Amino acid sequence: MPDAPRTPRPYPHLLAPITLGAVTLRNRVVMGSMHMGLEDRFWLYPRLAAFYRERAAGGAGLIVTGGVAPDVRGWLTPFGGTLNHAGAVPVHRIVTRAVHAAGGRIVMQILHAGRYGYHPLVESATAVKSPISPFPPRAMTDARIRTVIRDYARCARLAQRAGYDGVEIMGSEGYLLNQFLSRHVNTRTDGWGGGIDGRMQLPLAVVRAVRAATGPGFAIVYRLSLIDLVQDGNTMPETIAVAQALADAGVDAINTGIGWHEARIPTIGTIVPPAAFRSVTGTVKRALTIPVIASNRINTPELAEDILASGDADLVSMARPFLADPEFVAKAARGDADAINTCIACNQACLDRTFNNERATCLVNPRAGRETQLRIVATRAPRRVAVVGAGVAGLAAATTAAERGHRVVLFEAASDIGGQFRLAMRIPGKEDFAHTLRYFRHRIAATGVELRLGAAPSDAELARDFDDVIVASGVVPRMPALPGIDHPKVIAYPDLLSGRRTAGARVAVMGAGGVGVDVCAYLLEPPHTDARAYMAEWGIDPAVLEPGGLVRPQPPATPREVWLLQRRPDGRRMGSGPGKTTGWAHRIVLKRHHVQMLAGVEYVRVDDLGLHVRVDGEARVLDVDHVIVCAGQESVRACATLAGPRLHVVGGAARAAELDAEAAIRTGVECAAAL
Ligand code: NAP
Ligand code: SF4
Repeated sequence: MPDAPRTPRPYPHLLAPITLGAVTLRNRVVMGSMHMGLEDRFWLYPRLAAFYRERAAGGAGLIVTGGVAPDVRGWLTPFGGTLNHAGAVPVHRIVTRAVHAAGGRIVMQILHAGRYGYHPLVESATAVKSPISPFPPRAMTDARIRTVIRDYARCARLAQRAGYDGVEIMGSEGYLLNQFLSRHVNTRTDGWGGGIDGRMQLPLAVVRAVRAATGPGFAIVYRLSLIDLVQDGNTMPETIAVAQALADAGVDAINTGIGWHEARIPTIGTIVPPAAFRSVTGTVKRALTIPVIASNRINTPELAEDILASGDADLVSMARPFLADPEFVAKAARGDADAINTCIACNQACLDRTFNNERATCLVNPRAGRETQLRIVATRAPRRVAVVGAGVAGLAAATTAAERGHRVVLFEAASDIGGQFRLAMRIPGKEDFAHTLRYFRHRIAATGVELRLGAAPSDAELARDFDDVIVASGVVPRMPALPGIDHPKVIAYPDLLSGRRTAGARVAVMGAGGVGVDVCAYLLEPPHTDARAYMAEWGIDPAVLEPGGLVRPQPPATPREVWLLQRRPDGRRMGSGPGKTTGWAHRIVLKRHHVQMLAGVEYVRVDDLGLHVRVDGEARVLDVDHVIVCAGQESVRACATLAGPRLHVVGGAARAAELDAEAAIRTGVECAAAL
């Protein structure tokens, strides 16, 4: 009998098993460490377990937990997650049992924050304060260093008793071990400092102590900073020497860290092209015999497969993509990559929250971290549901309702889905937003939503045909009541971003919120897809021949003259947009392009001369070709006269401020989950 035709296995490198020390993983996909805020309180561990259980069930080969401190001085924040006594072991077992029951493997990350700690007990190699914590550290004595080594070993031993398959020792991003490793902080003259041989003594001692405490069957991953991106950081030869010494000391795999948290170069935001740092990882991988894990801005299985196939790494770590979609691996494995809800690297609901000391979730997946609370359960009483508007709020509502078994019709007046997201994906650095629309297109088909484009149903039709109507009619741009607002020089931001209008060489942007900052990027920046251009713009040497991998930045040319304006007098954060972890980079970009930022502006009128304003009581005319209006939005409330069906309003239609995509998707999903 002839062989049955065989479907080639998708992603053969990504889905191949691998062994780290004595621990075998079912594939090469690592869910990287992401601090969810749930690991800091023991009573939240059942929720943490549910979060990881979904990711293990979804196929992740190895899960790395959020950082857990080995002792109190190592806390990132006061009373943060700590494993320093046997009493904590049973709560950790809730997590490890959940992951193992779902077929996964899990290692606990041990993180001593050093001078990045946000509390008065902080300590480091030297007493030099970090720019991102107000607390000056104490320089650690020799005795204290030896205690910390024992604390790491105790922590790892307790993790082993709790059922973890291993530990990841956090030695990158500028935390304690990285502080010891680098001249940037470590200027000690004793045996823990000096040249690279002295600076690596603490990391090596920690690894040896952990190995001695846990024995040979326990995986030790070390997260090593491959490019520090700070002054006096390490060079590639130094980093390779450290990596080889770590392997000799008992490490089973090297995970990749890129840039310290205090570095003023973006390394994971949307501004960074996908897999921008793969060549840096490749250089280290080729110098080692133990497995090396690539990370940073890898968000699709195609990219991950390509990195492995090209020999740049042995495994791929993705942290945020597993917030966005717990089934990332399972969907890839069944050849259904279009079904993946892709992380768009916005940081808005994850890292921005974490750095505000709030619990993390995900903009495109509001269930992340809320698995036990926001449940999508099949309905026993299917209803006829109309969703009016196919922006992201409507898309989330329609597909969630259909997934539950309701019969859903999604109406969209425009010729395509996406609403404001279609505009956002045209911003340089937001190209990945297109993934979200691809995902929803796929989900519409998979859940059986009936999509009617170019359709605006009357209230009478809705009342006749449906039991429930979800109004997701979104927003329109606010146009201030200003003399000359209808002058040809004035362009509402959707007309610019959709390409219906183009801007001249001199432009004023009215409104400095998230959209105003995005519009500046659109006016000034080339697309953010080329890793080489990104490296040149930010002054990164991927060969890391210079300390920290820093060279002179070569920003792209400035194509036009731009003014960014706001009425509020306080202009200190102008140009940052709303993101806590990304705002500083936006501000650097605008400054590089010499954007003139004016706060405390009173708009007077627009005419042939340009935009007339008053600043500090003084009249000025900005001689511009165009004024782009980015003055916020107003809700569009469809179905105002509807009577009969149950009415629900979600996203921007409910509150214009909920143009904010996170709130839009969350309210859409929550509404459909509660129908
Ligand atoms: P926004 O953040 O509310 O900013 C609009 C700006 O326009 C305000 O800062 C306001 O500043 C100004 N303004 C308001 N009324 C005005 C009026 N009548 N005349 C002149 N100026 C006026 O709105 P947005 O920028 O359109 O953003 C909307 C939502 O999307 C926000 O929730 C935002 O966070 C979100 N978003 C997020 C991102 C992101 O990257 N995370 C990007 C884009 C948008 P002054 O009154 O001081 O002038
Ligand atoms: Fe990715 Fe944004 Fe979700 Fe964070 S909030 S995981 S960056 S999509």
